[in-house]
Amino acid sequence: MNNYFYLILLFIGISSCKKDLKPLKKTIVIVAPKPIIEFGFDIKDYIVIKDTVKKDETFGFLLDKNHVENPLINKIVSNSKTTFDIARQLRVGKPYTILAKKDSTEKAQIFIYQPNKVEYVVFNFKDSISSYIGRKEVKTVIKKAAGEITSSLSNAIEEQGVNYNLTFALSDIYAWTIDFYHLQKGDKFKVIYEERYIDDTTSVGIGNIKAAYFEHSKKPFYGFRYVVDSTKVIPEYFDDQTNNLRRTFLRAPLKFSSRVSSRYNLKRRIKHYNWRIKAHKGTDFPSPIGTPIIATANGTVTKSAYARGNGNYVKIKHNGTYSTQYLHMKKRKVKVGDFVKQGDVIGWIGMTGSTGGPHVCYRFWKNGRQVDPFKQKLPAAKPMLDSIKPLFFDYISPIKKQLDAIEYVKKEITIENEIKTDSLEVSKN
Ligand SMILES: [Zn+2]
Repeated sequence: MNNYFYLILLFIGISSCKKDLKPLKKTIVIVAPKPIIEFGFDIKDYIVIKDTVKKDETFGFLLDKNHVENPLINKIVSNSKTTFDIARQLRVGKPYTILAKKDSTEKAQIFIYQPNKVEYVVFNFKDSISSYIGRKEVKTVIKKAAGEITSSLSNAIEEQGVNYNLTFALSDIYAWTIDFYHLQKGDKFKVIYEERYIDDTTSVGIGNIKAAYFEHSKKPFYGFRYVVDSTKVIPEYFDDQTNNLRRTFLRAPLKFSSRVSSRYNLKRRIKHYNWRIKAHKGTDFPSPIGTPIIATANGTVTKSAYARGNGNYVKIKHNGTYSTQYLHMKKRKVKVGDFVKQGDVIGWIGMTGSTGGPHVCYRFWKNGRQVDPFKQKLPAAKPMLDSIKPLFFDYISPIKKQLDAIEYVKKEITIENEIKTDSLEVSKN
């Protein structure tokens, strides 16, 4: 963009016949320069220095380089501490912008630091010292993607050039309906999801998945995000027949991680036992010591004790069919007879009993036998009320059409962008 004054000269009325000369009409239009706003400042008023923090550079060093001296530097740091402790929190590689005086002193007046893609911290010491945290406008774009699995879901998603986190989001939605560890070649997915952007092109991550379709072993699995109880505003995923995709059990006894380090395996051979078969009837979820362990479903605590192999452990009876057990806890939080709800903290990750590293060994019983929880056909969580079903069908009908219309293109980007208009409405094609 041109930052200077525009001069638009308009020449009007040049006659073709020189003899019949009309006076030349000349109009001069002067257009004032448009402000270029960045971080709330008109950057045309300043010398703009943009860079990233290099190794060994401190806030003081950067200001000193731009003609600000002590004691002002110390004053800026101490006056801004409650907003942002710049002396301690400045990180190598993060971008900053300095707005300096447009005169021979070239003295810095404003320092803007970007600790992440969305937030920026402004230190304004033009006159008096002030500081605040600003946020860039985040735009949500509805996107579509589709792919076919050749090796793994994450590979398929990467091949499409789609945000990697989509893999996690999708596997979360289908956690109990599809075994993501045993996807088959030829399985397919389609998804309509939100991606958030700042400055129109920089992605800051994916938002909600509005709808998804998964074809596993030639069987279709729809998933539509829907809020059944508007007072609680807890979205859940339902298939096209109103079945809740969430099962009565959570996939993992940890809140923020469902990474598995060792799966249920009756033929496991491990080095420690000279590579002899040593069945592992649990599923190990690694996490740092002290991480809360949660009950995967409602139930009553039947055991809360210490044993040599198990260490500190808790066992919960969920109903006549299912029980779960959680081993190697640092500390137990519940006692026998306690009723716990799904998601309640029952203890913390530790290394008690025989264990090589901090993890929770999660054991799952069905009718008194230990089974692989990931292979169970578990009952769905709360069924949808009949009175809500017509509303649900109305809501999903246009989304399902959109989903069905997405085509699979192997190894090519099949993303279409649409600007989101309303959080509940999918914009039309
Ligand atoms: Zn284990």
